Amino acid sequence: MKISKERLEELRQICKKDFNTDLNDQELHDVAFSLTGYYGTLAKMASEDIENFLRLEKEPDGWAINAEWGTCSFCGLYMSMKESWFDKFGYKCKFCQRALKEGVIPNSVCRNKGRRFSFDDLKDMFGIHQNTARSLVRKSDLKARVILNDAGKAHFTVFLREDNYQFLKIDKDVPPSESEEYDQQVAKWAEDYKQRVAEQNQSKKNNC
Ligand SMILES: [Zn+2]
Repeated sequence: MKISKERLEELRQICKKDFNTDLNDQELHDVAFSLTGYYGTLAKMASEDIENFLRLEKEPDGWAINAEWGTCSFCGLYMSMKESWFDKFGYKCKFCQRALKEGVIPNSVCRNKGRRFSFDDLKDMFGIHQNTARSLVRKSDLKARVILNDAGKAHFTVFLREDNYQFLKIDKDVPPSESEEYDQQVAKWAEDYKQRVAEQNQSKKNNC
């Protein structure tokens, strides 16, 4: 990508003013080059998200994806993503997707990690080690929700804030997460996009 001299000078001034750095020409080019790559990637990701949003309007239940490997947005495991699923609650492995569909986990906790804790979270955030957590579950002090695999064994255990806030002495609710705010942003971009397309179609009609 070719960047105009004016833009480069603008960038040089920004670096000077905001970061107190004097860049030589080579450094300036390097910064500009990484920034355009970075924003190019962001723009590409955003346009994929907008495309998915528009497709979800037509297919609200989402769609199946058969990927060799990937990371489930719910359990966070890097695993075979055969028979995985994408919908407005994220890209999920087949076990997490099934648990959601069967109501083992509510949809409302999917896009907000503050609404759920893994065994690791319990240890990091509350100092409750896995064995302690298991015995607290047996005593019904903690409530666990267990996502099963095809063999009927535990694939992933999750502790919902709404089930455990009293025992953990935390708030029942949390503010919207970055993912939830981003979803709203994507919805706005998609609306803008639809409006632009409608306007273009209208002006084409008017020109005929
Ligand atoms: Zn999963």
